Amino acid sequence: MPLPDWRDASKHGTMIRAALWLETEVGEGNVFTKSKLREAFEGVSQIDRRIRDLRDRGWQIDTRREDPTLELDEQRYVKKGLEVWIPGQAKAKAKSNLTASQRTRTMQQDNFLCRSCGIGSGESYGDGGSAAQLDIARRKVRLPDGSIETQLVTECNKCRVGGRAREEDVPALLSEIKALSGIERQALAAWIKADRRERSTLERLWGHYRTLPEESRAVLAAAVNDESGQEG
Ligand SMILES: [Zn+2]
Repeated sequence: MPLPDWRDASKHGTMIRAALWLETEVGEGNVFTKSKLREAFEGVSQIDRRIRDLRDRGWQIDTRREDPTLELDEQRYVKKGLEVWIPGQAKAKAKSNLTASQRTRTMQQDNFLCRSCGIGSGESYGDGGSAAQLDIARRKVRLPDGSIETQLVTECNKCRVGGRAREEDVPALLSEIKALSGIERQALAAWIKADRRERSTLERLWGHYRTLPEESRAVLAAAVNDESGQEG
């Protein structure tokens, strides 16, 4: 049976068209560029996300992460997954096991750390119990457009058990970010960039202040009050 035409946007959604495009225009084992993909699906929003949806359905599409011989702009269509253009196949999703490359990609993206508690694989929790084991959890996430998507995240076995019913709300977080002051936003941006939270001068001073003897605390307190008095 010949494959349906990938150009036919009246019959097929973008994910199905992308699958058909890979089969007819690229072919298993071959490399394609992001620009070629975007060119084929000109004007179609979120084509990259639809390619990711195919990965959830068993399609192996490698990027430079999995295949260092690829250029930054290149991806390789390695292996066909579910034939999503056949009615009923497109929905047969996520219940299936993750592929090895999905697991590897998620752990690499997460720096091989539990995103909930920060522990690394084989590290001790410090409670005398067994060492941490990392695994991949599926997390329901509400996207800015209101739809719900299942995304993958690295978690240790301990956190994973607690986090099963968790659902993230990206638009709610985005509106909190919007409400931050300039200074707060700068601090957050720095933590995000470093993927860790640096203690600010303010926090360091506060921590140090708390440990001082009373006489020294009084000196610092007076200095702070002086400074704020001068400015106001
Ligand atoms: Zn954890």
